[in-house]
Amino acid sequence: MGRGHLFILSGPSGVGKGTLRQRALNDIEGLVYSISCTTRRPRPGEREGVDYRFISREDFEERVKRGCFLEHANVHDACYGTLREDVERELGAGRDVLLEIDVQGALQVRSRLPEAVSIFVAPPSLEELERRLRDRGTEDDAKLRLRLKNAAAELQQAGKYDHVVVNGDLDEAAAALRKIILDYRMKHGVEE
Ligand code: 5GP
Repeated sequence: MGRGHLFILSGPSGVGKGTLRQRALNDIEGLVYSISCTTRRPRPGEREGVDYRFISREDFEERVKRGCFLEHANVHDACYGTLREDVERELGAGRDVLLEIDVQGALQVRSRLPEAVSIFVAPPSLEELERRLRDRGTEDDAKLRLRLKNAAAELQQAGKYDHVVVNGDLDEAAAALRKIILDYRMKHGVEE
């Protein structure tokens, strides 16, 4: 059995990455999600071990020291990281793995695993992104401003990715993401 492929999904907060990720996982057989660790607090409705592993800063730093993370970064004032062991286990079992991580993390993964396929999800405009973030209502005003400031910086990195998907219409963006993953599998082999 061959090794699975690694796909990285990035994009600014509020762009709809989470929804696109869920669509891809529902639609594509043999694609699994790597659940990240984070030090931020759970939002209402988020579940431990499903959305994230919510851990303390001490626990996070301990894992950094032990080299547990394939990548890790500080994003919007909290720490986030991908557990190396989880990704290796799934790839080794022949499953394709989807990471949803920020731009800094994506660059780290690409330098360690250059065969990873990177996909940037962009909003139709920054104004539209702000509207979506406000509608989502999960952040207070200061946090929202921080996320918008980071979004502008992240958008400048889009050109470093293998693919850019503009999320204007959700169905179209989901179809584009699905096509990228399935086309890559066609070219490089599906693990049965
Ligand atoms: P949120 O707090 O909205 O769930 O996520 C904030 C940002 O952190 C998003 O851009 C998300 O993609 C990113 N993120 C989530 N998990 C990870 C991770 O394991 N590593 C890195 N580098 N970024 C992550």
